Amino acid sequence: MEKTTSVPFMKSKTDRRIICLDMNSYFASVEQQDHPSLRGKPIIVTGEEKRTIVVAASREAKLYGIKTGMKIYEAEKLCPFVMRVYGDGDKYASIHDAFISILSKYFLCIEVASIDEVYIDSQGITDWKKLESIAKEIKKDFKSQLGEAITCSIGIAQNKRMAKFASNLHKPDGLTILTQEDISRIIPNTRVEEISGIGRRITKRLHSLGIYTFKELNNFPIEIIKNEFGEYLAIFLYNTAAGIDLEEVVPTKDAPKSFSHEITLPNDLVDRKSCEKVLYGLVQRVAFRMKEKGMKARCIGVHARFTDFTSLYSNRTMEIYTYDPHILFTQSKGIFSSIFTEGSTIRQIGVHTSLLVSEYDLPVDLFSESSSQLQNALQKIKRKYGQTMIAPLSTYYMKNRIERKIHGFYLPEHSDND
Ligand SMILES: [Mg+2]
Repeated sequence: MEKTTSVPFMKSKTDRRIICLDMNSYFASVEQQDHPSLRGKPIIVTGEEKRTIVVAASREAKLYGIKTGMKIYEAEKLCPFVMRVYGDGDKYASIHDAFISILSKYFLCIEVASIDEVYIDSQGITDWKKLESIAKEIKKDFKSQLGEAITCSIGIAQNKRMAKFASNLHKPDGLTILTQEDISRIIPNTRVEEISGIGRRITKRLHSLGIYTFKELNNFPIEIIKNEFGEYLAIFLYNTAAGIDLEEVVPTKDAPKSFSHEITLPNDLVDRKSCEKVLYGLVQRVAFRMKEKGMKARCIGVHARFTDFTSLYSNRTMEIYTYDPHILFTQSKGIFSSIFTEGSTIRQIGVHTSLLVSEYDLPVDLFSESSSQLQNALQKIKRKYGQTMIAPLSTYYMKNRIERKIHGFYLPEHSDND
């Protein structure tokens, strides 16, 4: 009895219907659509550089155990005749635009979560049967306009997290509806890590308490959960166990939600100073693009992948919105030192800014007038002559590293879930 009174369950809206649409093995299936000879075969999409990784694997390749993020030789060990295709970001972006425009014919409230995943708020269409038939129409349109090889899995539920869970249940080409009754039946026996938002770290901590499913979570003494995870995360976990999620679908217009830039280093780096120089170059890239779009960020994150392929991500919310590369660099340096320990070797570094706002929506900052004039001048030079035209002398030797063609796909922590 005590348990239910001490968890502040959030009040969910029962008349909401959210659709999660996830393209199946997106980059790989676009390539299979483009090259019929690759259809039905295990293929991996990779970058062109030597130290690239598997950016996407086809359904057939996944059957061999190949996963996104693996090294090429690991994939080839699992399937010696796997075919390798170099990724083409522009092509995936143009198919993305094509499927978004198909979806726009059916719905207005569409949030682009990533290049191959969107959330849709049905905005008043609450009849499950009606939504099912619209989803079937969308699949038909995809087949006729994008091609037979490009499929998607659709999940429909009362909120984003459960819609995402539903979309994951049947792949490829799935269509899964989970009403609240379905959720109450299925979630208790679901493993905690199957729900988005419960990442590897939380999963590990839950497992160490002997909690593998949501039923086990609900049966666990609530005080221990609160002590272990803190009030905020505890509330999140119990609400998730009840299938509750209040996050709204935020329609994406042209405004980007985040900026990121990352690099797989040609050689592993061991010393902090060199890493900071790479970080500096990445921040410059991100800041340049933010300024071009007129977007300022309040949150900056740094992502590091180590030689043993473990990775760490940490971020900070700042007091102000900014695209000033000096501020962003100072912040990212601080974040980097919180995830870097002497002796670790780094393979990949990334910078990520979010919580964006258009600079025109912010009050004018009277105190940064002179530095912003300098920034404007630098921006102009970079626009005209390229990113590496102006940089501190200390980073000059890094030029080639940053300039190298990088695969440019930001890999989320749960990258094997595509
Ligand atoms: Mg996907």
